[in-house]
Amino acid sequence: MDNLCGLDGGSSVAPKAPSAGTEAFFSVRDFTVAAHQAVERLADMLSNDKVEGVRLQRPSDLMAKARSLMTAADLGRFEPRRFADILELYLETGIKVNSRGYMGRQFSSVMPVTAIFEMVSAMAPQPASYYEAGQLANIVDRLIEEAFGRLIGWPQGSFEMVTTSGASLANLTAVLVARNRHFSGSWKGGLVGDGSRRPAIAIGEDAHFSVARIAGIIGIGQDQVIRLQLNERRQICPRRAVATLDAAAAQRLDIFCLIASAGTTAIGANDPLPELAALAKRHGAWLHVDAAHNGAFLVSDELRPRLAGLELADSFCLDAHKTLFVPALCTLLFYREKGLAETAFPQKDSYVFDPFEDEMAAVQSGVKNFECTKRPAILNLWLAWSLYGRRAFADKLEQLVTMTGAAHDYFADQPDFFVPYRPESNILCFMHQPPGVSGGRLSGLQLELRDRVRAGGRYLLSKVDLDGWTMLRIVLMNHRIGLADIAGMAAEIRRHTRDILQHNPTPGGQERPLGLQSAE
Ligand SMILES: *Cc1c(COP(=O)(O)O)cnc(C)c1O
Repeated sequence: MDNLCGLDGGSSVAPKAPSAGTEAFFSVRDFTVAAHQAVERLADMLSNDKVEGVRLQRPSDLMAKARSLMTAADLGRFEPRRFADILELYLETGIKVNSRGYMGRQFSSVMPVTAIFEMVSAMAPQPASYYEAGQLANIVDRLIEEAFGRLIGWPQGSFEMVTTSGASLANLTAVLVARNRHFSGSWKGGLVGDGSRRPAIAIGEDAHFSVARIAGIIGIGQDQVIRLQLNERRQICPRRAVATLDAAAAQRLDIFCLIASAGTTAIGANDPLPELAALAKRHGAWLHVDAAHNGAFLVSDELRPRLAGLELADSFCLDAHKTLFVPALCTLLFYREKGLAETAFPQKDSYVFDPFEDEMAAVQSGVKNFECTKRPAILNLWLAWSLYGRRAFADKLEQLVTMTGAAHDYFADQPDFFVPYRPESNILCFMHQPPGVSGGRLSGLQLELRDRVRAGGRYLLSKVDLDGWTMLRIVLMNHRIGLADIAGMAAEIRRHTRDILQHNPTPGGQERPLGLQSAE
């Protein structure tokens, strides 16, 4: 070979043989030992029926513990004991998604077999953006696309799906497609509008924060986000939306995308999609539906009707890592019209786009998704679908939604609880309203209760601020939760309230147990 770099031919560049140390870190025996340790510990966790939420530790304490587990010197060998300690610390500090006390978040326990496959795909990766690297990942994208197409009612071959790492990224990607279509020169020339009107998007007041962020990310600016008011069920109110959008258009806003929700994070509400589809059409705007939470209703014959009008959307996404119970992140992003997915990132870089491999390029997702290296998370969903069929997902989802309805009825029957909204999904908001507590004190009490219940370690709830009120919120992601657990949680709330009112006649005023804020 020519010595292009002017180096003295071959003296310092002889390949180094792998050291015995490197071989040790890739030891098959250690892998087997660690795998057995982990699987046994996880099986133990899954069979444990303890009611628990989360055990929050002070960050400084946890940091000290974690630091103490870091090897001081390069050990060069695997220590099963240290591995077990690290595993234990991880499990101890996690939310207990497999427990009946866990009610606070949208993270799900996963179908156990999908977690096993998650390990397989980490060990033998198929980076999913490129066909050459991720053959099966790209093929099963097409199979899952087909299965969902039938459920949506879209003709095969007419639509398209890509997978993304999370709904936040899916929402952003869909809005990029809408933007590139509406402002055709914007990818190259930047988002300048037509000079007389400012580009704008319209979103519901309860839209997820990732949706509101998009305006900042793509450069249209938060001032050009039109907030659509809600009705008494916290859905976008189409009647008011008509007036709001007309007024915005009159103020020279060019509304190119309307984003609706199917399953708001706050209460799980589904926006009225047929009306919003008509409204978007009237304004020449794209309709994207953030169905991250409730999009999974598609798999259930019983729940699917609640998504009426979803088939009219230009695009929508759903989070399989939430309501289809597979490991995070696994999001499906659908476009009603085939061919649009690749207009999100109209690049033709040679390493992504290979003109010689038409058949293979046609099935690979690289040009259609934001990620370069991408986990083949779709394989977990396809695996569970292949092994168990669609009913497995539908059964659990129906169970969760039914149980949430029962929890609503339970609270509605208690004179000291207030439930403002009948749940459309597995999310329920409520307040504890003991006699004699009202106004701002009532909101303070809810926050105090959330913190005390969490600190108690048995139940995990979350809170949400709605119309100036702080409310408690539960998300039932565990199919084992029954009414007895709801009643147990209510009893614990009453006990804390009694304690708070006895020792502190103005709840919410004192220092909170750990001073930590909700992250959701
Ligand atoms: C969870 C959620 C998101 C964010 O999705 P990630 O997968 O966490 O990125 C967006 N919208 C809604 C309605 C959600 O529930």
